[in-house]
Amino acid sequence: MKKSLLALCALLLSASSLAATPWQRVEHPVSGSPRAIGQFANGCIIGAQALPIEAENYQVMRQDQRRYFGHPDLILFIQRLSTRVSNLGLGEVLIGDMGMAAGGRFSSGHASHQSGLDVDIWLQLPKRRWTAQQLLKPQPLDLVAADGKQVVTRHWQPEINNLIKLAAKDNDVTRIFVNPAIKRQLCADAGSDRDWLRKVRPWFGHRAHMHVRLRCPPESLECRDQAPPPAGDGCGAELQSWFEPAKPGAGTPVKHLPPPLPPSCQALLDSHRLQER
Ligand SMILES: [Zn+2]
Repeated sequence: MKKSLLALCALLLSASSLAATPWQRVEHPVSGSPRAIGQFANGCIIGAQALPIEAENYQVMRQDQRRYFGHPDLILFIQRLSTRVSNLGLGEVLIGDMGMAAGGRFSSGHASHQSGLDVDIWLQLPKRRWTAQQLLKPQPLDLVAADGKQVVTRHWQPEINNLIKLAAKDNDVTRIFVNPAIKRQLCADAGSDRDWLRKVRPWFGHRAHMHVRLRCPPESLECRDQAPPPAGDGCGAELQSWFEPAKPGAGTPVKHLPPPLPPSCQALLDSHRLQER
């Protein structure tokens, strides 16, 4: 018993020493009327809500990470999507990372998810609810073949296509990031109903989940939206370019210093530090 307690303390200590950003020390949402501030990859949020953990139509993974906070619009979107998926009998929606209690930068894992408007939703829809143990240590299902060019046919179910399409058709959603091979499959399957494909953007990784991003809420005056995706379904030359060999020198990682925080986010951090003293 003592031993496991010691191990737990060691674990907690190592977890806190990994907390390289001050945002990870903010445990509770900052009270106030909900405001997403700044950019998706450099921002924060006031008045975030926790996604209800107990829900009929979705399940929340890795609850120990406490990355289930977001703008109320994000909570409503997740509930709306999960209800649609459930009404169609497609399966259980699995919710991955949203944001931290006040948003902000993670020490690892995500560049965005900072302003309470991003959520990772897994691209598998189990027919039976997962156990607590499965939710704590979820096993991702890699949908992309080893060559990165297509999806793994035996894992690619029509339900997954429907899940992405339902999310893309939601009015609050502006972008969905998936692996290029997944976008290619969606393009091939879409038929004549293709407008929603515009929002589905190819990106690195994202082999087992989609990353859904909402528009800035109208009353969040300091929230900075991205320009809308280019017109069209994005199934042509742009998608093709992801499958071509990289040109020499292209894609060499460039290290940027993090940009300065939006002033309201800096003020929020400063006041939190004062409270901690
Ligand atoms: Zn994400």
